Amino acid sequence: MNLRKIDENTDWKSKYQDVLNDLEAHEFEWSKLEDLLRKTIGRLCIAGRGLDSRLDKQLRIIQELSREKRDEKLTQALANLAEVVASLDDTLIGGIKQRRSDPIMLMLELLQNIHFNGSQRSQLKEICSELLISVANGQDRDSLSVYIQKLSALINENFDNINSDNKSARIVLQLLELLDLGEPQGKEIRDQFRDTHEFHEQELMRLAENINAHIGVSAESSSIDQVMTTLLERLAILQGANSDAQEIQTRVHEGIDSEQWPDTLNEIVNSISDSLKKLEQEKRELEGFIVNVTEQLGEITSAISEGHRDHQSDHEDTLGLQDFIQQGIGLIQNNVQATSDLQELKLEVSKNITELRDGVDDYTERFNERHEATEERNIKLTRQLSQMEQETQTLQVMLKENRTKLLYDALTGVYSRLAYEERISQELARWTRYQTGFSYVILDIDHFKRINDTYGHNAGDKALKIVAQMMQKYIRKSDYVFRIGGEEFVLLLTNTSAENAAIMTEKMRAGITAGSFHFKGEPVNLTLSAGITETRTDDDAESVYERADKALYKAKNSGRDCQFIAD
Ligand code: GH3
Ligand code: MG
Ligand code: MG
Repeated sequence: MNLRKIDENTDWKSKYQDVLNDLEAHEFEWSKLEDLLRKTIGRLCIAGRGLDSRLDKQLRIIQELSREKRDEKLTQALANLAEVVASLDDTLIGGIKQRRSDPIMLMLELLQNIHFNGSQRSQLKEICSELLISVANGQDRDSLSVYIQKLSALINENFDNINSDNKSARIVLQLLELLDLGEPQGKEIRDQFRDTHEFHEQELMRLAENINAHIGVSAESSSIDQVMTTLLERLAILQGANSDAQEIQTRVHEGIDSEQWPDTLNEIVNSISDSLKKLEQEKRELEGFIVNVTEQLGEITSAISEGHRDHQSDHEDTLGLQDFIQQGIGLIQNNVQATSDLQELKLEVSKNITELRDGVDDYTERFNERHEATEERNIKLTRQLSQMEQETQTLQVMLKENRTKLLYDALTGVYSRLAYEERISQELARWTRYQTGFSYVILDIDHFKRINDTYGHNAGDKALKIVAQMMQKYIRKSDYVFRIGGEEFVLLLTNTSAENAAIMTEKMRAGITAGSFHFKGEPVNLTLSAGITETRTDDDAESVYERADKALYKAKNSGRDCQFIAD
C-alpha cells in the first residue's frame, strides 16, 4: 500500500514535472512567436504607411496596441484594418508609387507597370486587395499561395499574349516607326494591321505593297524583298562596318522561304532598334559631355569674375589706404602744430605712427590673402582648361572615327550611301553657285542575281569587291565612287561632260568585263549597264538620279552590257 502510494506519488510528481516542462517549453515558444508577431505587425505598419490616410490611422492604432500588449483590442483593430484595406481597392494601386523602397510595394508597382488589358487590370486589383486582406488577417503561407498562383497565371497569360497573338501587330508597329513614315500614312497602315494576328504570305504582301507605296517604290516591284532591302540599307547606314545587316543581308540574298519572312523581319526590326538605342546612347554621352563642358565653362566664368572682383577690391583698397595715410599724416601735422609739450607730442605722434603702421599691415594682409586665393583659382582654372581641352580632343577623335566608319561601305571599301548623300548635295550646291558641273553615272551589274544563284553569295560578295576596286582604278583623284545599293554604284565625275564621262565608263565597263572575275578557276561572265547624265539648271539630287536611272533602264532594256546618256 505504502509502496503503491509512493509509486503513485512519484508518478504524479514526475508527470507534473513533465507537464511543467512542456508548458515552459510552450510558453517559451509562445513568447517567441508573440514577439515575432509584434515585430511583424510593427513592420507591416511601417510598410503600409503613406498609402492612404484611413489606412495610416488604423495602422497607428494597431502599432500602439501591439506595443502596449493590449491584445483584446488588437484583434478588433486588425478586423477594422481588413475592412479599410478592402475598401481601398482603387486608391491602393495608385498610392503604391509613394512607397518605393518596400519589397511588397515594389512588387505591386512592378505588376502595375506590366501592360495588362482592362479585364486583367481589374482582376489584378481584386487579387492584390484579397492578398493584402489575407496578410492582415494573419493567414498562413499555404492560403496565401493561392493568390500567388492567381497572380502568376495572370502574368503568364499576359506574356503568352505578347508572344503569340500580338507579335505580328507589334512587328508592324515597329516597322512603321523605323521607316519613319509619318502621319497619316503610318496610322492608316497601323489600323489596317491592328487585328492581324499571324503573318501569312498574303498579309505580308499587303504590308509590303502598303509600305512600298509610301516609301516611293513603284507598285510593280512591290515585294517583301523590297521592304527588307530598304530596311537593311537603313540598317547598314546606321551600323556602318561589321554590321548585323551584313549577316542578315547574306541570308536574305541567299533566298528565304516565305514562312521565314516574319522572323527575318523581326530580326531586322530588332537589329535596327538596337542600333537606334546605341545611337541614342552615343547621343546621351555627347549630351553629357556638353553639360560637363558647360558646367566647367560656368565655373571658369565665375572664377574670372571673382578675379575681376579681386582686382576691383585691390583698387578700392589702395585708394582707401591712400586716404588712410593722408589722414594719418594730417593728424601728425595737427598734433605738431597744436601740441607745445614735446613729451606729449612725442607720445601723440608715436601713437599716430603705430596706428598708421597697423593700418598698412592690415592692408598688406588683405592684399596677400586675396592674391593667394587668386593664385589658387588660377591653378585650378589652368587645370580645368587643360582637362577640357583633352576631353574635347578625345571626343573629336571619337566622332571622326565614327564618321569615317559610316562614310565607307563595309563590304567594298568605296564610299557609302551616307557619303553619297552628303557629297551629292555639296556638289549640287557648288554647281548652283559657281556653275561647276559634274557628270553622274549609275552602274548596275547585269544579272547579278544569277551570279549569286550559280556561285553562291560569297562569290557574289567577292565579285562586288573586285568590281568596286576596278572602278576606282579608272577614275581621277577628283572623282568619287559610291555603292548606293546592293549591286548599284554611282560615279560622280567633277568638271566632266556627259560625253567625256561616257568615254571613261565605256572603258571602265570593258575593263571590268575583260578583267574577268574567276571563281574556282572558271571565268565568270560579268557585265555592267550604265546610265549617264550631267548637271542641268535647277537640278536636285532626285532629278539627277531619275534621269540617270531612266538611261540605265534603257540600257537594261536594250540587252544590257551597254550604256546610254540621258535625253
Ligand atoms: P539586272 O541585270 O536587271 O540588274 O538584274 P540583277 O539580277 O542584277 O538585278 P536585281 O535587282 O534583280 O537583283 C540584284 C541582286 O543583287 C539581288 C541580290 O541577290 C544581289 N545583291 C544585292 N546586294 C548584295 C550583296 O551585298 N552581296 C551579294 N552577294 N549579292 C547582293
Ligand atoms: Mg543588276
Ligand atoms: Mg540593281
